[in-house]
Amino acid sequence: MIPVRGLEGRKVAVLGLGRSGLATARALEAGGAEPLLWDDSPEARAKAEGQGFTVTDLTRDRAFEGVALLVTSPGIPHLYPAPNPVIARAMAAGVPVDNDIGLFFRSFATRDWDAFDQMPRVVCVTGSNGKSTTTALIHHILSEAGRPTQMAGNIGRGVLDLDPARDGEVVVLELSSYQTDLARALTPDVAVFTNLSPDHLDRHGGMGGYFAAKRRLFAEGGPDRAVIGVDEPEGLYLAGQLSVAPEDDRVIRISAGQKLERFGWSVFARKGFLAEWRKGRQMASIDLRAMPGLPGAHNHQNACAAYAACRTLGLAPRQIEAALASFAGLPHRSQTVGEKGGVRFVNDSKATNVDSAAKALQAFPKIRWIAGGLGKDGGIVALQPHLGSVVKAYLIGHSARDFALQIGATDHEICETMERAVARAAEEAQPGEVVLLAPAAASFDQYPNFEKRGEDFMEKVKALL
Ligand code: ADP
Repeated sequence: MIPVRGLEGRKVAVLGLGRSGLATARALEAGGAEPLLWDDSPEARAKAEGQGFTVTDLTRDRAFEGVALLVTSPGIPHLYPAPNPVIARAMAAGVPVDNDIGLFFRSFATRDWDAFDQMPRVVCVTGSNGKSTTTALIHHILSEAGRPTQMAGNIGRGVLDLDPARDGEVVVLELSSYQTDLARALTPDVAVFTNLSPDHLDRHGGMGGYFAAKRRLFAEGGPDRAVIGVDEPEGLYLAGQLSVAPEDDRVIRISAGQKLERFGWSVFARKGFLAEWRKGRQMASIDLRAMPGLPGAHNHQNACAAYAACRTLGLAPRQIEAALASFAGLPHRSQTVGEKGGVRFVNDSKATNVDSAAKALQAFPKIRWIAGGLGKDGGIVALQPHLGSVVKAYLIGHSARDFALQIGATDHEICETMERAVARAAEEAQPGEVVLLAPAAASFDQYPNFEKRGEDFMEKVKALL
């Protein structure tokens, strides 16, 4: 645990009593603050009380008198579509609002570091897609290279649950736009921006607000090195804004497709090969085509981002190459479940938006595509240019009929359930084809979350194999 510093003897309100909220409460207590806990859900309050915490009603009048700070959870809106009433009350009382990420950055460094040979460092990863994969990949590469490292944030543990840093340790954090939007301190040593496509727009008041939330990681923190995907205008703009000239090698530009040879430092993937260029010279080249855990151009983008981050930490290209080859991939992201009669079954249940589903559909040449669930605003019309690889779609869930109307002339069948979709796709698949779950929709109509949906797919597939 990282005890929270600078709030000794102060009352700190904590809104949201999920995993990160309770970790925050413990870390505040350990640092000598007095946490006042609240959650709008009676079940969450009961659970916290069951773990020995006292709950304080933050919805009552004058609840924020004498309170130094409000710490909130990422799922709770603070501005759009409308502020949560407790946050509104804190803001009206002039109480600053922060989150666990802000507390982490103000508390992580300690006097013990004076005795270290090498200062601990923090790498933060943000972007619309590929955050978890890139974060896990950086952590994997560092572990394989024998460097002390821990991973947290939106993946694995909450940040305040991390162990205090060891000599030379690298902490790798995945940060969502909700987290970067609110944190009052954001001071990573290396910051990574993978890509940007519309998501969570209701929470950010549109695309501009969404980009602004992610950009805070670079603007507030002033990282020593920024690794930035420049395949969208926002990334291109950000890279330009952070560098004084194209030769400026504090910014490493990455791309999944463009040649970037004119810059101080760049890493890009083309036709399955990763290339690193520095000051006009090629430094390294890696064949990504045979890396089993990193199929498709989208994963090559993640490989470029992780490679660049690890190079800034002093790793050699060959060390990184070996670790890329041994990366198993994350569950529910381009995850191969098995193979039968030349047909491969791939679980990409995490493809909950159009952009990630488009990437999955480009990763394989012939696809029996299982899609549907709770469709998002705008539907899947934008997927039409990427349906060339789809032999047939097997549509499930709430949006099955809507999706059927949005995929043009692509052959399809309404299956309703996962069980039927897997059975039908497996029955019809020919050798060389891939049965791919890439729903392009949220899971909440049929499952509690995307993990459960992916597990259901894997169960049905395993029963067939
Ligand atoms: P995040 O943590 O940003 O949601 P994940 O690594 O969990 O990212 O991947 C989310 C979804 O996006 C998965 O369906 C995955 O296959 C897909 N994906 C992974 N990397 C990328 C990328 N660089 N660009 C687009 N889609 C990606």
